[in-house]
Amino acid sequence: MSYEEAFPKELREYYRRLFGSEAEEIMASLRTPVEKYYIRVNTLKTSRSKLIRILRREGLKPRRSPHLKEGIYFEREGANFDDDYEPGLKRVVANKFASESVYQGAMLYAPGVLKADKGIKPGDKVEIRDPRGLLVGIGIARMGSKEMMLSTRGLAVEVTLPKFRLPSLSELESFKEGLFYAQSLPSMVAARVLEPSEEELVIDMAAAPGGKASHIAQLMENKGEIIAIDKSRNRLRKMEEELKRLGVKNVRLIRMDARKLPELGIQGDKILLDAPCTALGIRPKLWESRTPKEIVATARYQRAFIWAAIKSLRKGGMLVYSTCTLSPEENEANVRYMLEKGLKLEEQPVFIASHGIGLEDVQRFYPNRHMTQGFFIARLRKV
Ligand code: SAM
Repeated sequence: MSYEEAFPKELREYYRRLFGSEAEEIMASLRTPVEKYYIRVNTLKTSRSKLIRILRREGLKPRRSPHLKEGIYFEREGANFDDDYEPGLKRVVANKFASESVYQGAMLYAPGVLKADKGIKPGDKVEIRDPRGLLVGIGIARMGSKEMMLSTRGLAVEVTLPKFRLPSLSELESFKEGLFYAQSLPSMVAARVLEPSEEELVIDMAAAPGGKASHIAQLMENKGEIIAIDKSRNRLRKMEEELKRLGVKNVRLIRMDARKLPELGIQGDKILLDAPCTALGIRPKLWESRTPKEIVATARYQRAFIWAAIKSLRKGGMLVYSTCTLSPEENEANVRYMLEKGLKLEEQPVFIASHGIGLEDVQRFYPNRHMTQGFFIARLRKV
């Protein structure tokens, strides 16, 4: 399957209208994992040099981010084979989620298996394909065909040659000790752009699983207060665990619909609105299912959050608006809406990507140009 087939026709046309000849490059990049895989040093517990020494001892090749002093990255390995490679082995078909993980170097566990050729025995070499037939990796079966289709747990295939390989970090001691958080570079820039300081009240309106909130907490040295809102119980549970692992102590979690934030009657010094979005910038995507119609509906949904954010920001306070999507409807158009409501755009203290579409002072990360997730950041002031 070519990357062309991986995007719905309307979305391909939308990208071509928007990005011209760059659209093809953008879509091709979106299909691969990021070239540089980032983690954020948890400065509440360690320093970058110490963590780099520990990671080297743990067998990895960490590199310093040239952009952020809390950033470390690892180079992606691969592609390990071409798109038209046909290994001719027995096949295991994995669901989309499991395929995307195998594609980046993870093992294949039984719950991710959709189908397996008859006659596979433990020890057989097999190829793993996504539901649309794309080869995502090759490995050694650790279960027979029937067992891998029926089991609800356990290793089905030990992946020996994934299409790409990113480091596997969650089993490391340094991870368990909370010395870092795996986070994309643009996400880290978002918290930096907020410039939180120790005595402030910060509201994070869509906070789970807590990547940006925990970054903000470390920038505040665990002081001040962060009110972290999310409507998802499961994601908040995960966030609670993460905050504990990282030693974050200044975050109060609230489960609610953030569009009702004004009902809490608080006024934040700073608000981060990392809005729920169409996530068109997330990499890798074996295929995309969103269409331009959903972009319009999502942009409308986001405006309710924006209204609530403006209401709950004190005069003189700052709003940072971010998304992991590429559409101007969810990005620049929403910023224009904020400008109409009286907010003022500000320059960003960390600016390492491109200007916006028709707006100078917003930051747009393109997967092909910046080799990151697609991402958008705006910083506004309530005057
Ligand atoms: N800021 C998070 C981080 O850095 O880890 C990621 C947030 S994710 C982009 C968007 C979040 O918005 C999801 O966790 C989702 O549960 C939450 N969400 C969606 N609709 C919401 C609503 N009406 N009220 C509160 N949270 C909502």
